[in-house]
Amino acid sequence: MTDNKLTLDTPKSVLVFEAHSDDMVIGMGGLVKLLANQGVKVVVCTATRGETAHAAGEEKNIVETRKIEGTRADKFLGVKEHFFLSHGCQDLTNDRATFQEFVGIIRREKPDWIFTHGSNEWHRDHRAASQIVEEAWWKATEENVLVELGKPHKAKAVIFYEVLPQFDGKPDVCIDVSSCWDAKMEAIKCFQSQVATMGGFYNLVEGKGLYRGYLIGAKHAEAFMYSRFIPRDRF
Ligand SMILES: [Zn+2]
Repeated sequence: MTDNKLTLDTPKSVLVFEAHSDDMVIGMGGLVKLLANQGVKVVVCTATRGETAHAAGEEKNIVETRKIEGTRADKFLGVKEHFFLSHGCQDLTNDRATFQEFVGIIRREKPDWIFTHGSNEWHRDHRAASQIVEEAWWKATEENVLVELGKPHKAKAVIFYEVLPQFDGKPDVCIDVSSCWDAKMEAIKCFQSQVATMGGFYNLVEGKGLYRGYLIGAKHAEAFMYSRFIPRDRF
């Protein structure tokens, strides 16, 4: 097991769950570009409308604006498909209907790997997404359960990316994404609506990339942790 490479078999497809349009780019835009460059199909699912994060006077168009920004950013990273759910911002809830919705998405998309938020994120929607995805990952595998939501599918891993704050403790892996950093920052700049609400978030992304890079002797890196919800069958 090396400490700067994901050791699972190279996936054919990955599914990224994000709470809000921009989380994927902040947390793992570099890895998405790396994977897309290797021919991996990357699908993104945005769970909420993101309607609470807007500058004064911008609330009327914010939902549509955030969709457009996310779709524009995808083009810099090679994202293949991106679909948007309609949960309320600050209101993503681990209830029965949402849980089953996520099980259905996993069974439909059949990803080899699934990415989502870490469980200790500050934002309540990030924490909710983390919980729902972990449990849906497991339940999607079961025969004769929720058969109306499609055939069972077992993704090999759920992997957490970090938005804010950094992971508690040490990440499992930091990936060198230096070669894709420019593309990530071009994608980040698509989210103009968030500059007003998140101040210097470009600096946050740059600083985090440099710090994670330092840990593995690279210019820029992104940090990840494996979910232990289902045990892995190898190191
Ligand atoms: Zn978010």
